[in-house]
Amino acid sequence: MKKLTAMILALMLIAPVCLAEGSAHTHVPAEEWDRDLQQHWHACECGEKLGAEDHVMDDYECTVCGSEIRVYDEEYAEIYNYNEQDEITRNTTYGAEDVVLDDYRYLIEYDAEGNRIREENYWFDWLIETIEYTIGPDGWSQPVIQKYFDPEGGSSVNRYDEYGNLIRSESFDDIGALIFEEDYEYTYDEDGMILGCRQTGRYTAGDSYVYETNEHGDDTLSAYYIADGTLDFGRRTEYEYNENGLKVWSRTYDLADDRLVEEITFGVVSDEYDEWDYAKTVTEYAEDGCSTVTEYDDNYNELSVTKYNEDGEIETVYRYEYEFDDYGNIMWCGRYENDRLYETSQYDIVETEDYSAYFEMIRTEIDQDGSMYIREYDMDGNEVSAGLFDKDGNPFSGSMTAMPQNPAEENDAEKTDAEETGEENSGEDKEQTGAGVAGGALMGL
Ligand SMILES: [Zn+2]
Ligand SMILES: [Zn+2]
Repeated sequence: MKKLTAMILALMLIAPVCLAEGSAHTHVPAEEWDRDLQQHWHACECGEKLGAEDHVMDDYECTVCGSEIRVYDEEYAEIYNYNEQDEITRNTTYGAEDVVLDDYRYLIEYDAEGNRIREENYWFDWLIETIEYTIGPDGWSQPVIQKYFDPEGGSSVNRYDEYGNLIRSESFDDIGALIFEEDYEYTYDEDGMILGCRQTGRYTAGDSYVYETNEHGDDTLSAYYIADGTLDFGRRTEYEYNENGLKVWSRTYDLADDRLVEEITFGVVSDEYDEWDYAKTVTEYAEDGCSTVTEYDDNYNELSVTKYNEDGEIETVYRYEYEFDDYGNIMWCGRYENDRLYETSQYDIVETEDYSAYFEMIRTEIDQDGSMYIREYDMDGNEVSAGLFDKDGNPFSGSMTAMPQNPAEENDAEKTDAEETGEENSGEDKEQTGAGVAGGALMGL
């Protein structure tokens, strides 16, 4: 303290007196260092830089002001400052021509033992966050109330229980009126482990919801209500677990009429470290009595989709066969409708200097009479050729030409969908592709 006072006095002595019109102002240097990428100084309230000098760099750190200065390139640099506890107190980001892009300051208060008790965080001059801490059961500081302030107006508050779990969130508009509130109720065992959570949310304007999870973290309830409290949509799910806590089955019911809507049976996969469950068979029950059973392998690849009518009779079976490379990437996929191969896809991995990409190269649609419509794609998913072939692979005359515009566009959209879902599209989509796009292409030729 003595040292600091001496330093401030020294700075005051060298601080020039600034004469504004009709009043004198004596500069008072701030205790803390201010800095930019080149210099450090003590700032006066009036903005004057007092005692500005160039940083004295040792590696990435200035030996005088302690700033850590990281210049990544001409358009990106950062300065970090730390307190005695070695926690970041300020972080400034610079863009081209040393323009300040972001400036965060973290004012942290500690108790005598060095535990955090309060924090105020600023973005430029705006207070954007305050956090109040308590000492939790394990002896560590943990937040109890966290407030966020949007510089544009509006704010939110999060409250935490003694285990550090969020128990309540509130959001306010720019005049301070509550617009949203959410509560979390936990049940704990004697060690403070969560046995379940009930989350309720309510928008002041009307809608509300409830989510519940069990001790495995699986959803057991989700319900949405409109403003007058009427159920809009809701599901509840029951689970059976094995002795290792892995799911054996789940059954999901519609909350409105307690109708079974989905049933999943799980399989178990394991490696040398761990074992986990995966949805092996998913049965969806439609309101009209029809159902769809989808089977998956342990890599989430669809193996089959079977559609049943309201009398429980099989209507259509889609089946998928795969060939994999050594890394488990699908190299080939064959799609069957009631045992007739109607589509195949060939995939490839292309390695460039910058990246490696996995993509579909060739898609072949096979018609009832064995004729084939073959499309080839480039790495961007664009069709590069398309042509019609007979069942022996001979091109029909006039084939392998540029495609008519509309079917090509349809095809691009379809292909993107297929890529995004990792070839896990439902059989329904594939059926439409086979009929619609190939039909359109044939007409175009
Ligand atoms: Zn001043
Ligand atoms: Zn410095």
